[in-house]
Amino acid sequence: MFGLMMDLPLTLTTFMRHGERNHGLQEIVSVTHDNPRHRYTYRECFSRARRLARVLDRLGASENARVATLAWNDYRHLELYYAISCSGRICHTVNPRLFEAQITYILNHAEDEWVFVDPAFVPRLEQIAKESPAVKGYVILSDAVNMPSTSLPNAYCYETLLKAESDDYGWPALDERRASGLCYTSGTTGNPKGVLYDHRSTVLMAFGSALPDSCGLSATDGVLPIVPMFHVNAWGLPFSAIMVGAKLVFPGPALSDPATLTELITVEGVTVSAGVPTVCLPLLAHVQKTQQSLAPLNRIVIGGSACPLSMMEAFRDRHQVRVIHAWGMTEMSPLGTVNAPTAQTRTLEGVAHAEHLCSQGRPIPGVEIKITDDDNVELPWDGKASGALKVRGWWVCRDYFRLEGAGGAHEADGWFVTGDVASIDPHGFIRITDRAKDVIKSGGEWISSIDLENTAMGHPDIEEAAVIGVTHPKWQERPLLVVVRKPGAEIRVLDLLRWFEGKVAKWWIPEDVVFVSSLPHTATGKLSKLELRKQLVDYRFPGT
Ligand code: ADP
Repeated sequence: MFGLMMDLPLTLTTFMRHGERNHGLQEIVSVTHDNPRHRYTYRECFSRARRLARVLDRLGASENARVATLAWNDYRHLELYYAISCSGRICHTVNPRLFEAQITYILNHAEDEWVFVDPAFVPRLEQIAKESPAVKGYVILSDAVNMPSTSLPNAYCYETLLKAESDDYGWPALDERRASGLCYTSGTTGNPKGVLYDHRSTVLMAFGSALPDSCGLSATDGVLPIVPMFHVNAWGLPFSAIMVGAKLVFPGPALSDPATLTELITVEGVTVSAGVPTVCLPLLAHVQKTQQSLAPLNRIVIGGSACPLSMMEAFRDRHQVRVIHAWGMTEMSPLGTVNAPTAQTRTLEGVAHAEHLCSQGRPIPGVEIKITDDDNVELPWDGKASGALKVRGWWVCRDYFRLEGAGGAHEADGWFVTGDVASIDPHGFIRITDRAKDVIKSGGEWISSIDLENTAMGHPDIEEAAVIGVTHPKWQERPLLVVVRKPGAEIRVLDLLRWFEGKVAKWWIPEDVVFVSSLPHTATGKLSKLELRKQLVDYRFPGT
């Protein structure tokens, strides 16, 4: 027997309608290339989204059109998110920091019909426009006054197009399984793979991520997504923030400028933010140097790669900001687990508490996890056994776009192989040891590069640290620590190695240290161990 409840689809249109009607006066503030502080309300935003939907019709964007964006975090990008998806099309956010060959591959693989592009990225697109024949034209995210001159074919000005339309548009009724967004993984191995989100998965992820033990979002929050809107939809914040009616504050091109971020936080009343550790580091360094406060910020979601304990402590002890350590991936929309205490873990103290903080947390309802050994046998949740982390859930992808099972990560029994190696403790908290491809195997045992990096980052003289496995004649592989020292710091190899004593098992202590002036990062701001291994391909441990 079925229940007798209304069968209304879970669509992003519902969020938009809710936001417009119930939080119509809430503010959205943006930094853009043509305005240092653009400010308007939800009501104006969604009125413009309706005009934009008419623009898409007028441009002839087809029913299932993939419409690409290469854009910063700002109000125009937000309008695109909703107008594209809620008119039944697919919002394809492209990471403009990728190599040109990767952008071309992605645009062609997705067969994007239109590309909406921030002026800053126009020169990049000009280089490759000829190689993307499916693209019918380009819309530059600018007003007429600040339009750059361009060789892009069929190029229009965003504001001019919008001005020519009325906001009289009826959003179509959509099936909740209809595709709404497309994001490609960064493709550190092989070509990028497309993850095709639908309305249902996006709506459910927004609910899951706003729960009190996730990001705990509310209508009284000011939300500053530092994570780019081209990096897994800014982790869903443009949806969850609108869903709860929070103020949105967008940093635009100033995303990596700690001075502007600090000003936005303090002046615009930002209470919650989110970003990868590499962008949070300069923010912390800036406020320390300038002796500024981060109030009213009270929590920051950090994920994408492991958040070092030292960073969590700095936020907590100097700024009363709680770090919400989260783990996920593009294939998971992206949020999978969040570190929020349970009734049992909240009473932990001292070392146990510190260790617990470094965990990537427990699954959000809607996500299931397990770890298995090489024979696909499930391992116990004892905090010790570590194996391949697999997931399934309401917002986990079941296949890659146009790869039809060839992605290799989806198992026949419905689990997705994340490519991460983890242990799970009895409270259900995961601890990511490594990405499977980064695991260091020394004498047949695994060493966690993440734990070693975390320990190195705890040293007051270390700015950034990476650990990779290097071949060793006796032990097969041994860890090599590669570090960037803080400006002026002069710490030497032996002192640094001594720092590890008593903090990790003796045989985990890195074999050697290499000092560098900077570490390579991926297009999403994470450490690129692939690139680092290439740079150190000729490195040999002393005496080997
Ligand atoms: P890519 O890094 O390829 O751009 P994603 O952004 O989807 O793709 O990254 C997902 C991966 O990032 C995860 O599989 C995991 O290895 C890593 N990751 C994400 N969050 C964390 C975290 N909190 N701690 C450690 N690793 C993390």
